[in-house]
Amino acid sequence: MDLGIRGKTAIVCAGSKGLGRGCAEALAAAGVNLVLNARGAEALETTAEDIRNAHGVDVTAVAADITTEDGRAAVLSAANEVDILVNNAGGPPPGFWPDWDREDFIAALDANMLAPIAMMKATLPGMIDRKFGRVVNITSYSVRAPIPQLGLSNAARAGLTGYVAGTARQVAEHNVVINNLLPGIHATDRADALDQAVVAREGVTFEEARAARAASIPAKRYGTSEEFGQTCAFFCSQYAGFIVGQNLILDGGSANLTV
Ligand code: NAP
Repeated sequence: MDLGIRGKTAIVCAGSKGLGRGCAEALAAAGVNLVLNARGAEALETTAEDIRNAHGVDVTAVAADITTEDGRAAVLSAANEVDILVNNAGGPPPGFWPDWDREDFIAALDANMLAPIAMMKATLPGMIDRKFGRVVNITSYSVRAPIPQLGLSNAARAGLTGYVAGTARQVAEHNVVINNLLPGIHATDRADALDQAVVAREGVTFEEARAARAASIPAKRYGTSEEFGQTCAFFCSQYAGFIVGQNLILDGGSANLTV
C-alpha cells in the first residue's frame, strides 16, 4: 500500500533500537527521509546505515539525549522541514510508591511528558503552515491500564495523554494530526531487561520467564517492532488525516477494556 508520504521528512526520536527503530524502518519503506536519534552513536549509525541500504532514503543520524534541551536542539537543527514526528524515549524505572521523590517525578516528566511536548511545540507551526503534519507519540498500554510498579511512567504518560487530547483538537483543522500508540509487551531490549529481572528474582531460565509472560497475553506472544512500526507508518500516512487525538493499544489483547 502506498501511504502517500514518499519524499516527506520525519524525525524519529529514540530510534536506533526497538519500537522506535520499527517506526523508522516502516517510514523509510514508505519513502520517508529520516532524522534518526538515539544517545549511543555506534548503534545509531549502524541502524541508519541499515535503513539507507534497505530503503534508499536519506537518514541523518543525530546522537543526542532527547530528554535534554541541547539534545532536542541538535535533532531539530538537523531537519529542514519536519512533516512527521515520532516521539519516543526510554521509560522510567519500576519501583514502589514510597521510594519516589520529587526528583524522580521531574526526571520522568522531563523524559516522557515534557520532551515530547517540546518537540511538538517546535514542529507544529511548520506543519500548520504547510497544511500537513503527523505526530505519533509512543506511550504505553499502562496509560489505559496502569501498572502499579510503573507509577512514574503512569504519571508522566497520563500528563502527555491529556496534553495531546487537547492540542490534537486545536491543530486538526490544518491537516495536522496527533495520536498516541500504546504498546503492550513487545520483543525489544526493554522486554529482555524485564525478563532478565524475573530470571534474577525467581531463579528461572530466560526462556521460562518469557514463556510465562507470553502466556499471560491473549495472543500468546510478544508483539514485534515490525508490527508496531507499520501501524505507526499508517498513522503518519496521508490516509490518517481524520484520526485525531486517539490512543491505540497494541497489546495482543492484554488490557481488557470495554471502551
Ligand atoms: P528499547 O528497545 O530499549 O529501545 C529504546 C531506544 O530508545 C534505543 O534506541 C535507545 O538508544 C533510545 N533512547 C532511550 N533513551 C533515549 C534518550 N533519552 N534519548 C534518545 N534516545 C533514547 O525500548 P522499547 O522497548 O523500544 O521502548 C520504547 C518505549 O516504549 C519506552 O518508553 C518504553 O517504556 C515503552 N514501552 C515499551 C514496551 C515494550 O514491551 N517494549 C511496552 C510498553 C511501553 P540509546 O540507549 O542509545 O539512547
